[in-house]
Amino acid sequence: MRPDILNPLFAEVQALKGVGPTLAKPLDRLGIARVVDLLFHLPSGWVDRVARDELMEGDVGRTITITVTPREYRTSSSPRGPTRVQAVDAHGNHVSLVYFGGSSGWAKKQLPLGEAKRISGKLEQYGQELQIIHPEIVGEDDAFREREAIYPLSEGMTSRRLAGLVEQALGRAPALAEWIEPSLKARHGWPDWREAAARIHADPADATARARLAYDEVFANQLALSIVRADTRRRRGRALAGDGRLRDMLRLPYQLTGAQARSVREIEGDMAQSSPMLRLLQGDVGSGKTLVAAMALLIAVEAGAQGAMLAPTEILARQHFETLRRTLAGLPVEIAVLTGRDKGRAREATLMGLADGSIHILVGTHAIFQEAVGYRDLGLVVVDEQHRFGVAERMLLQDKGRQPPHVLAMTATPIPRTLTLALHGEMDQSRLDEMPPGREPIETRVVSEERVDEVVNALGRHLSEGKQAYWVCPLVEESETSDLQAAEARAAALASRFGDRVGLVHGRMRGAEKDAVMARFSAGDTGVLVATTVIEVGVDVPNATLIVIEHADRFGLAQLHQLRGRVGRGGGRSVCLLLRGSALSETARARLALMRETNDGFRIAEEDLRLRGAGELLGTRQSGEAMFRLATPELLGELLPAATDDARLLIDRDGGLEGERGQAARVALYLFERDAGVALLRSG
Ligand code: ADP
Ligand code: MG
Repeated sequence: MRPDILNPLFAEVQALKGVGPTLAKPLDRLGIARVVDLLFHLPSGWVDRVARDELMEGDVGRTITITVTPREYRTSSSPRGPTRVQAVDAHGNHVSLVYFGGSSGWAKKQLPLGEAKRISGKLEQYGQELQIIHPEIVGEDDAFREREAIYPLSEGMTSRRLAGLVEQALGRAPALAEWIEPSLKARHGWPDWREAAARIHADPADATARARLAYDEVFANQLALSIVRADTRRRRGRALAGDGRLRDMLRLPYQLTGAQARSVREIEGDMAQSSPMLRLLQGDVGSGKTLVAAMALLIAVEAGAQGAMLAPTEILARQHFETLRRTLAGLPVEIAVLTGRDKGRAREATLMGLADGSIHILVGTHAIFQEAVGYRDLGLVVVDEQHRFGVAERMLLQDKGRQPPHVLAMTATPIPRTLTLALHGEMDQSRLDEMPPGREPIETRVVSEERVDEVVNALGRHLSEGKQAYWVCPLVEESETSDLQAAEARAAALASRFGDRVGLVHGRMRGAEKDAVMARFSAGDTGVLVATTVIEVGVDVPNATLIVIEHADRFGLAQLHQLRGRVGRGGGRSVCLLLRGSALSETARARLALMRETNDGFRIAEEDLRLRGAGELLGTRQSGEAMFRLATPELLGELLPAATDDARLLIDRDGGLEGERGQAARVALYLFERDAGVALLRSG
């Protein structure tokens, strides 16, 4: 339960004066739904207003504040032309105040002739005269703030307006007990939380206040991870020591890579402990995570327990099932698959097998953790593409075994080392930083969109050689519909040339429909698969050796890398064509060039972070919602070590967060909405 003291901050914005449904809309577009969101909507910049009593050409380009007296109106001859109000300062210098947009009535009313007014705006030179376009106006004796915050805006919202709302929000902000370690706070000269919040909005340049708020956010994040980590360590799970008898029976056509062997050893070491494993296996697409997972599952079975493998989608679940069945063929190991689509007798049989232990390994979607599914002795859970699952889902797993099972999470999204601690600090890490031998790197080319006809010709040649291809359609922001239209249009265009060899798969399709399309592609019945980004991570069609990605500049690098990983799965050469628009920014160019240059996902992740900032990477953990609002990538990098140490130390000393600082830290968890772990807090 959220502490009462925070209630005023978690009220809806509509609780503020002047905020009704009309204003709520543009606020909502900015992600501001509650009072606290206003506080954390930090200024992106500021204007300094220089107070002057005389107009000077030297001030052109500056935002000035000055008292002037209107002398004359000059309306334009055309009805849509600007209204110019001629005014003079105290020394008789002229300035023209310009208003665009229709009627002159408004200007005349605001600026009556002969009445001195204090105005503020950016001074410009227009021919021989000085002018200010749309100056802000106050009475003669009122003052402007010298420094004014500029906020990220949406249509229908101004910085002024936001500043007013932020002021109300600040008025509701309670003083909170300090959660920062006193010596750390003193060393940085950080203000209290509420003061820091007030200061950053009053003066966006206040680096000390900004750092304090960022630290709070990072600290809350690390604290939540530390709680999960401590909780896992404290639980008594079951030591699973495999005797190797099943693994020895495996007849693999290849040797494990060094990285695979090392990861298996790390996993084996963890599973032999009685505190449950919580380990993340990071490995680029194609690095061989499935085999590592299979080894871990075999260890569990050797030790007499069951294993489960959780996949984010139906297609992936079935594919893992097939792979495991092939890999473990000939071993006395029973494998089953269970997804939301399995019903009736087959499902009943699977449930029985799980309950009586005759099924050793279950692969499936989240359906495998439904209440009705009971295991005889679940010892290990492997979570594939773990970023698609939240902490909450992982906690559900913990309840399925008689004792909490070991957890091996896997991700094909390489994460920069600097971010690993912030994203996955609760888990131990294994990295597959070595590719299986004999893999030919995918050849990547960047092609201008204007040359799409040539690309289609190349596709034609490719298909006529009996090979297959993916064609990925643009990601249109915030509009699933236009995504779909683009993909449909492309599929139709290709079909007019290649007929029924064109398949289409997109996010709006139902599971069965999607599977049917995928199955036809897998079987080679269709030659080219047009897809929105739904082509699943991990989908494996070795004969598909060409991938075309439209509007490649609109994808994140990590995403491009993932998509590219759909090809290069068989032997032989694979090609990735990145279609780019004509007007590209420097950064966009650099990013696409990087894709051409390297196939190393870890390197791409590091560079992407450098080129673009952490925002998107950080946002990927839980379905799009950004993890850090206050901590910029730079601040995150700077503050992370201290925040992690401090959080772990606090949990070591006061695991239940019962003491004075502990109680304050609890409030921070709620303030930054990292409270999912609070339920795990050790009481007493
Ligand atoms: P990931 O899930 O990490 O993307 P996979 O587990 O699907 O990668 O493995 C990709 C391909 O590499 C599979 O076809 C697999 O059989 C093969 N593979 C895995 N390990 C090795 C190895 N040590 N040597 C050769 N090929 C391997
Ligand atoms: Mg995989």
